[in-house]
Amino acid sequence: MRLPELLAPAGNLEKLKIAVHYGADAVYLGGKAFGLRNLADNFTPEEMAEGIRHAHAHGVKVYLTVNSYPGNDDLPSLEAYLEEVAPLPFDAWIAADPGVIGLIREIAPDRTIHLSTQANTVNWRSARFWQQQGVSRINLAREMSLAAVIETAQKTSVELELFAHGAMCISYSGRCLLSSVMSGRNANKGECSHPCRWNYALVEETRPGEYFPVVEDDRGTFIFNSRDLCLIEHLPEIVASGVAALKIEGRMKGIYYVASTVRAYRAALDALAQEGEAYRFRPEWLEELCKTSHRGYTTGFLFGQPREVGQEYHSAYLRSHQFVGLVEEVHPDGTATVGVRNRIRRGDHLELMGPGMRTDTVTVTDLTDDAGTPLEAANPNQRVRMSIPGTAAPLDMLRREG
Ligand code: SF4
Repeated sequence: MRLPELLAPAGNLEKLKIAVHYGADAVYLGGKAFGLRNLADNFTPEEMAEGIRHAHAHGVKVYLTVNSYPGNDDLPSLEAYLEEVAPLPFDAWIAADPGVIGLIREIAPDRTIHLSTQANTVNWRSARFWQQQGVSRINLAREMSLAAVIETAQKTSVELELFAHGAMCISYSGRCLLSSVMSGRNANKGECSHPCRWNYALVEETRPGEYFPVVEDDRGTFIFNSRDLCLIEHLPEIVASGVAALKIEGRMKGIYYVASTVRAYRAALDALAQEGEAYRFRPEWLEELCKTSHRGYTTGFLFGQPREVGQEYHSAYLRSHQFVGLVEEVHPDGTATVGVRNRIRRGDHLELMGPGMRTDTVTVTDLTDDAGTPLEAANPNQRVRMSIPGTAAPLDMLRREG
């Protein structure tokens, strides 16, 4: 069985290293300009070079996103940017705008190009068109059904990439002006302020100031708020469809999200490869994905129109666990140096997670600062030392239920 590549978001160098460590086959990242997610940390050219070196040393590919839609005024700086980053040995560009693709082909004619989901490819003829333009892989629109994906795979020879996990828009990706209108931040230039997650009411035009709730919980009305995509329960059908890659959304999200999602999909894909016909979905993979913040899961359009099960009519983010610390170093005396991300107290019962669905329990019996001074509790951004199970390794994470 040929497994699809597991493609993970790398919003900065730390997230790239986490994605590599937890089992991604490839990562996608953006520079400081022209890649959507301009509000993510993103990479300087020097950081990109380091990230590419690190990924390649672990057999992981790196794709550089340049998938915004620039205006004429942006073209001179875009050209300068592309020329600056083109010598870096990343594995493919990710672009959406035909003008950007044309410019890439002039500047780096031999470099592989993947088409971004921002290009909204929803049928096999579009896929064939883009293949004729020299595109090697197409990240399909999230709005395609599995039947349409299968038909597209059968009628084209271009590589297809499918979003498997992460946030969804209420429109075809990029075809949404809500953010531009409401906050002056252009989603097509990576600056979306996510107003689709805001609280809305209904106003009749002759009654200004009278706000009627539409669908309500005690927090308000969130009529544009899509659930998050999660396809982990359907990997056998998806793998059989012939897609070349499964993509996890979320360059803006934290290292804990990257670790948790990559390790769950990695485990499921590896089990599928090893077990073939005998493969059975394990609830622990979905439980893992519920341990990070999300909006309630949906399979989106994969099995037909999502209708009401695709919407989240309240604001709540769900999460069963809280990320509290990153293992930075493991010492021979059975202790570890931990970078604290949320308050840790002596006596806490924590869960240790590592790649390959490795988990362990930790009770915080000893807690000191770097200098060895005993602590009752540690706060975010502190570095502490504590006893840790023998299985622990650097880049493991500690989390707390609740
Ligand atoms: S406002 Fe929401 S739907 Fe529109 S582009 Fe931003 S995230 Fe997508």
